[in-house]
Amino acid sequence: MHIDKCKWYNDAESPVLFMIDDLANTWVDTNNNGQVDWGEDWGYFRDEDRSSFRFLQERLLVHFPDVKVTFFVPVGVRVGMMDRPLFKQVSLPINADEASKDFFQSIHHHPRFEIAYHGTTHGKVGSRATDFIQEWELFRSVEEAVERIGEGIAIYEDAIGERPQGGKYCGYMSNEHSDESINQAGFTWWCRYWNRGSEHGDPISGLDKNPLTNYDVKRFASQGVIDIPSTLDGGLLRGVYQADMSVKGIAKRLLRKPIVRWKLREIDYLLEHRLVISIQEHIAPARDDGQRQSPNIFDDCTSLVGIFHYLEDKKVWYCTGTELANYVNVRDHVQVVLLEEDRFIFDHDTKYTGQEITLKFEEVQPCRILLPNLHAIDVVAGVVTVPVLQGEYTILKGGV
Ligand SMILES: [Zn+2]
Repeated sequence: MHIDKCKWYNDAESPVLFMIDDLANTWVDTNNNGQVDWGEDWGYFRDEDRSSFRFLQERLLVHFPDVKVTFFVPVGVRVGMMDRPLFKQVSLPINADEASKDFFQSIHHHPRFEIAYHGTTHGKVGSRATDFIQEWELFRSVEEAVERIGEGIAIYEDAIGERPQGGKYCGYMSNEHSDESINQAGFTWWCRYWNRGSEHGDPISGLDKNPLTNYDVKRFASQGVIDIPSTLDGGLLRGVYQADMSVKGIAKRLLRKPIVRWKLREIDYLLEHRLVISIQEHIAPARDDGQRQSPNIFDDCTSLVGIFHYLEDKKVWYCTGTELANYVNVRDHVQVVLLEEDRFIFDHDTKYTGQEITLKFEEVQPCRILLPNLHAIDVVAGVVTVPVLQGEYTILKGGV
């Protein structure tokens, strides 16, 4: 008898994360008409008419009920792109008032969503957009970075009622103090790089050039913080769709086009090698320098419909950043100890008690597992997901 721990929950080929950057208490009034128009809002208008959150829900998420979103939120006054902007930007901390707190907290508490940490201001503006310095590049010591993160976490806690579990470097930019600041601040997981850019030598992509490790989770620093890679541009299929083609039937037909098939090979590679599929977007296109923020859910709506439609018949696990990190920690730190042919226990720290782990039986395929609490769970095609509990598990081979 041999029992393996599955790489991903429910023995999925890949975890799928939909990551949306820069949801914030911010609005750019790009036509100076004093009211919100599509694409101007970064979260300031919450879920009101023509808000970006409403667009996300109604144009995308309603069609794909399994998809989960991890939002990366600058918690303070998010700055604009330059010191003399072309358009008026309104920006407040996420805890500025009760309505804002309620909005961000209700998102985080929804089972489909997570609010992750993305700095306080996002960085510092210069005279041109290209002079922008990203938040983690600004810190001259670990202490300075940790202090600033502490201020940000206080805002997050005030709005959301708990500490953030993970986050992402603003603009994927960091310096020699950054990783240690994430370690000391106690984050479980973090997104350090735009990993896909390593193919093109982008400086924000880290040094790993081996796709088999570069597109997988890694660990860093003394606490073994889990590094979740950023592996897919949500605009993968941008340009190959006509406007207004967000209907699934049309997506289905277009997925057969050769150019689309060729682009989808990026996803096929990740699935085939059981790597992380993390789809990257921004919540809105509007910027106070008049440029369009790319990628964004407005310009990529049809591309995202195509991607999620393509994934519909694949064996994937839709999860948030924290759900992925929790599974990886259980998988890496809990050991299966076979006692006899038909019994096993988990050797584990009690902090993992109650979390789920997926097991695979290699030679014999039992029909059910009897838990220590005497609940029985069916084994399907040699695979079973069970909670980690104290006590003995019994492997039932017959139709007991
Ligand atoms: Zn950002």
